[in-house]
Amino acid sequence: MQPRDKIIPRFRTGIDLDKCIKCGKCAINCTYDVIEFEKEQNKPVVVNQANCVACQRCAVFCPSDAIYIEEYPVSYAPHAHWTPYYIRAINEQAKSGGVLIAGMGNDRPYPTIFDYIVLDACQVTNPSIDALREPIETRTFLGRKPKNLNIMEVDGKFMLDDIYPNVMLSTPLIIGHMSLGSISYNTYTSILRAVREVGTLFGTGEGGLHKDHCPYKGNTISEVASGRFGVSPDYLQGAAVEIKIGQGAKPGHGGQLPGEKVTQIISETRGIPLGTDALSPNPQHDIYSIEDIKTLIAALHEATEYNVPIGVKVAAVNNIAPIASGIVRAGADFITIDGFRGGTGAAPRVIRDNTGIPIELAVSSVDQYLRDEGIRHEITLIAGGSLRSASDLIKIIALGADVGMISSAALIAIGCKMCQQCPTGKCSWGIATGNPLLGERVDIKWASKRLVNLLHSWTAEVDEILGTMGIDSVESFVGNRDRLRYIGPNPQEAKILGVKHAGSRFEVGR
Ligand code: SF4
Ligand code: SF4
Repeated sequence: MQPRDKIIPRFRTGIDLDKCIKCGKCAINCTYDVIEFEKEQNKPVVVNQANCVACQRCAVFCPSDAIYIEEYPVSYAPHAHWTPYYIRAINEQAKSGGVLIAGMGNDRPYPTIFDYIVLDACQVTNPSIDALREPIETRTFLGRKPKNLNIMEVDGKFMLDDIYPNVMLSTPLIIGHMSLGSISYNTYTSILRAVREVGTLFGTGEGGLHKDHCPYKGNTISEVASGRFGVSPDYLQGAAVEIKIGQGAKPGHGGQLPGEKVTQIISETRGIPLGTDALSPNPQHDIYSIEDIKTLIAALHEATEYNVPIGVKVAAVNNIAPIASGIVRAGADFITIDGFRGGTGAAPRVIRDNTGIPIELAVSSVDQYLRDEGIRHEITLIAGGSLRSASDLIKIIALGADVGMISSAALIAIGCKMCQQCPTGKCSWGIATGNPLLGERVDIKWASKRLVNLLHSWTAEVDEILGTMGIDSVESFVGNRDRLRYIGPNPQEAKILGVKHAGSRFEVGR
């Protein structure tokens, strides 16, 4: 490499040798070859400063807190337009000539609309509920709802006609799709264990379900993506099935698992030969219209003997409301909308950072459109792609979602440090990697407990928030935008959200 090709490192790793006990754990834990343990000198040495990605693995495992990671002190001359994000990207592309690939979600500093929304609370005339002592219902049901309740008599017994399959969730929160391969076997197993314990669902991601994971089928949503990898009648017997049209991190994009990542376990799960590329086309090649999607939904209903809800996942894009309407009319039982900050194992950075729209605007627009068309009550609306907290969850429910979906937050709970190195396969935490040795770094028992704790704590906080607003059931709060207020700078945004500005009163006669 010519010196002038050099890109100044983003981070600096330092080792305080006065504190260091020379155990060598930092070198063993670093997967980016930043630190080596020099046997002759008997001390750790930073050998590849430029490789540091701030994954923090070395610092967390250092028993003497001898390691620090900081932003590299050489800075770019300040420029409001030519920020380091663009200068670095141009330099990397000038060097490689390729498309920049990144993991996790869009990291551009677009405003986060959740932060411009505040929640209401009861005072004086509308009593709040004490969530610690009084019941608040957080269960919700995923699946199509009948238009009317028709009671019919069969053999002298009265039954409800037209009851569609629904899945009961103990909390209005599911874990989004992550395929085996994009995350490690241990991570996958940890998530499955957690959702089973809590009573919610995990999306299998593309590529099927490994035989070891079949006992957890009752807590999975089986994804049917464009590559159809791993799809079989048996695989479809999860709690629900979802056709993947798009995902928030890369709308209009498929997926690619290079042959070197198709290990024995991936080859068994996907049903493809060891070491072959697994390419998922950008579009589903049998879907070019709402009629086509209707055909696939009908086929999946038939394949599952009408026993499970069939849904469709789409990325949040400009025309999302009419798209959702078409999907409802095509017979889907649920729709998942993934916002533009949704995470991924790998995406072209130019797509990840510049396509799609925020989930807050997408959900409110879809909810209102479906209400205007009189079909909102027929389906379950799931929303994901950036939920960071219980307050984001309750806000997206108030904007119109029935259920929230998290993936990045789930991975953070089990150790992810958001370093965005997922596509490299070197995840030092063993989370986003197909490398079986690295994957073993995830302790299944510990990780599943952490995720259970997260799901329980968000559900408890949802209880608290609902109690504060005097609402005793999460289902009755769906789409209740009148309990939200807008404190942001953009009246047009508030209008699309359907949220009044702070200081506005309730509608008279509401
Ligand atoms: S992990 Fe910490 S104590 Fe051990 S060698 Fe590295 S810096 Fe020293
Ligand atoms: S999963 Fe691993 S590689 Fe990806 S952002 Fe998290 S810590 Fe980094």
